[in-house]
Amino acid sequence: MNEAFLPGSYGGDPGKLTDAARLECKICWYVYDPTVGDEYWQIPPGTPFSHLPDHWTCPECDGQRDGFMLIED
Ligand SMILES: [Zn+2]
Repeated sequence: MNEAFLPGSYGGDPGKLTDAARLECKICWYVYDPTVGDEYWQIPPGTPFSHLPDHWTCPECDGQRDGFMLIED
């Protein structure tokens, strides 16, 4: 079974994400919140996950973007 198809998985498809979507790193549980942005990568508040630069990785563990899981509110 491919992990990418588990329910709630981002799976690398930005079309599944809303601008307000928060995502959690499945390795270290770091949460990317678009209302906060990301100081490490100098991402300004208000930047949706889908608009992060291609080189963006988890600031805590260097995990890949497609390893993030969508947080269901
Ligand atoms: Zn991480």
